[in-house]
Amino acid sequence: MNKTVYIGFGSNLKGSKNRIKDQISSALEVISASFKIEIISVSSLYESEPIGFEDQPKFINAVVKARTYLCPFGLLKFLQNIERDHEREREINWGPRTLDLDILMYENVKIETRNLSIPHPRMFERAFVMFPLREIDPELSIFNNQNIGEILENLSNQSIFKTTDHSWWENIDGSKLVDKVQP
Ligand code: AMP
Repeated sequence: MNKTVYIGFGSNLKGSKNRIKDQISSALEVISASFKIEIISVSSLYESEPIGFEDQPKFINAVVKARTYLCPFGLLKFLQNIERDHEREREINWGPRTLDLDILMYENVKIETRNLSIPHPRMFERAFVMFPLREIDPELSIFNNQNIGEILENLSNQSIFKTTDHSWWENIDGSKLVDKVQP
């Protein structure tokens, strides 16, 4: 497990927040049960308004730091299998989705292919990525030489709410965490 990665989790299923939380925690359980990847820390859950197609439920997002021995394309496939098992709905582009898993960063690797771009091309524009990322790794150095605080200043127009504290996942299955996220 020698590669450090950051994975974005998102869901905006119709129904209660608990249903969405269950969806995200179920994906986390699949990941933590796998010998291919080890979860290091999990952010709080954040709620935000949908971007793009607006007539849809709010999003719940989180970011996870993990270690893996999978290569970037192997990790993408691994995450896509989990998305598929959670019956992601893809009829509407930018529309409601049961589960969205994105590779945000993979070590300092830069990749730009048709199927995979790392760092994730839209992550720096999204408060629902940058807030949880700062929570789990405030000192993280980012490719464009900006710090997370500077990036977040430019995203202050996006409303986003922290809906749990970092211990939400610990309460579900804390024994699988390597490091706990500090509040
Ligand atoms: P989206 O629906 O916006 O999550 O996009 C899903 C598509 O983005 C998939 O077909 C992936 O092949 C592609 N993709 C490109 N870069 C990434 C990335 N860093 N993480 C996850 N999916 C990616």
